Amino acid sequence: MSDDNDNDLARTNVLFDFLQGNAPKGYVIPPAEMPALTPDQAWTVIWYLGNLYWQVTDCVERCEVCGDLYHSEEGGDCLDYGDAPYHFCDTCMMGDEYADKANQQEATDDHA
Ligand SMILES: [Zn+2]
Repeated sequence: MSDDNDNDLARTNVLFDFLQGNAPKGYVIPPAEMPALTPDQAWTVIWYLGNLYWQVTDCVERCEVCGDLYHSEEGGDCLDYGDAPYHFCDTCMMGDEYADKANQQEATDDHA
């Protein structure tokens, strides 16, 4: 993984944790001001920032099978058709969900 991509993923993971109520070391945030989003809500914020305002990279995706973040230029895959899941980390690309979805696409291609 390149340093830039490594940093993108690390910073996005820090933000992901922060939005769920885990402040980075050295930050003191009053409990009433600390966000406490669910993992899905936290990911929605990151997706929004990445896609609309570019304040965070949009090269980091969240696997919709296991929920982990990954750098899309370093691994994982996006099968952008049909129903979710769309994003798969390297690990989940070896799973049944990925195989089922990839087969759907091949079946669609065959009938095209
Ligand atoms: Zn995964």
